[in-house]
Amino acid sequence: MTDTKKVNLLGLSPEKLIAFFESIGEKKFRATQVMKWIHQKGAENFEEMTDVSKALRAKLETICEIRAPEVVSQNISSDGTRKWIIRTEGGKNDCVETVLIPDGDRATLCVSSQVGCSLDCSFCSTGKQGFNRNLTPAEIIGQVWIAIKSFGPMDPNGPRRVTNVVMMGMGEPLMNFEPVVDAMILMMHDNAYGLSKRRVTLSTSGVVPKIYELVKRTDVSLAISLHAPNDALRNELVPINKKYPIAQLLEACQHYLANLPDKRHITIEYTLMSGVNDNEEQAYELAALLEELECKVNLIPFNPFPHSGYEKPSNNRTRRFQKIMADAGYTVTVRTTRGDDIDAACGQLVGDFQDKTRRSQKYIELREVK
Ligand code: SAH
Ligand code: SF4
Repeated sequence: MTDTKKVNLLGLSPEKLIAFFESIGEKKFRATQVMKWIHQKGAENFEEMTDVSKALRAKLETICEIRAPEVVSQNISSDGTRKWIIRTEGGKNDCVETVLIPDGDRATLCVSSQVGCSLDCSFCSTGKQGFNRNLTPAEIIGQVWIAIKSFGPMDPNGPRRVTNVVMMGMGEPLMNFEPVVDAMILMMHDNAYGLSKRRVTLSTSGVVPKIYELVKRTDVSLAISLHAPNDALRNELVPINKKYPIAQLLEACQHYLANLPDKRHITIEYTLMSGVNDNEEQAYELAALLEELECKVNLIPFNPFPHSGYEKPSNNRTRRFQKIMADAGYTVTVRTTRGDDIDAACGQLVGDFQDKTRRSQKYIELREVK
């Protein structure tokens, strides 16, 4: 029981770690040393920290800890994709997923920010679970720590095991603002993971006021889950659109880009659902809508899950949508599904055992009576 009272240093942002060291009467540079031990060398206890005095190590031992979330399972797909199910503190079913997708000399880690999600997008299995709880900063950065450690001892001079992070796992990152910001600062910090700000991306379904807050705090790259070219359809697919319609969202995107210190683009995510948002007129409408925005478009063929009520479009339809956007001058990629054999595809995260929540049951019943 005493452990629960210890401060978990894993999730403290550089600023908070320094403040903590100062609060216990220690110098700033000690915080830097400890930060490097935790995030660059993967230290799990204070004993390992050989350049920290014995007395300080003993003191730290009594008042703090380095505690990563518990890994329930780790799967490695035949295509190299790795997936972890991570149990967060709370209940025995409070699990999230983390997925690492290698691609040539890149490896992108898809990180979760909440158990479930309150925003209830109609096509998202996380949304169907309802909102359970927010992850702590340690549970968020812990996913990066666990992924890198899965390759063996961490070596700051060795090959980079994770080159990119996308906050595209479970949850809406802007609804768990402070912990997500702290974790992303660690991802980019030179004394922690040192990732380029161009390679750390936050994906949001459009919590507009928080986009304005975000650019005051970090300069990560931004992805917007748009999924529809007009408000009528987006209101159905992404209910938060009723609160913050497309025009406000695009204005927030412009503000975000204008306030970054460098020139960047927004990534527009558009999940293609057969017969819902994938026809030619919708492609033209989307092309016109995004005209003023510096952006790239990522088309995601819908990943089916039981009782979703949606289907993914044929390859032909996907290609046609892509071509219309490309002809209009956009850079358009189509996300290919990886890690199929371990259910690591987008929107299929932590499937079955959480599908039994009341909200999901209600949803299934609704679908079935239709
Ligand atoms: N809440 C954030 C981030 C997590 S979702 C957001 O919505 O942006 C990550 C991406 O996966 C989003 O673009 C989301 O719309 C998409 N997605 C969710 N369910 C999906 C599914 N079943 N098939 C394809 N994409 C899906
Ligand atoms: Fe939440 Fe994103 Fe899923 Fe929408 S798509 S329910 S915002 S996780």
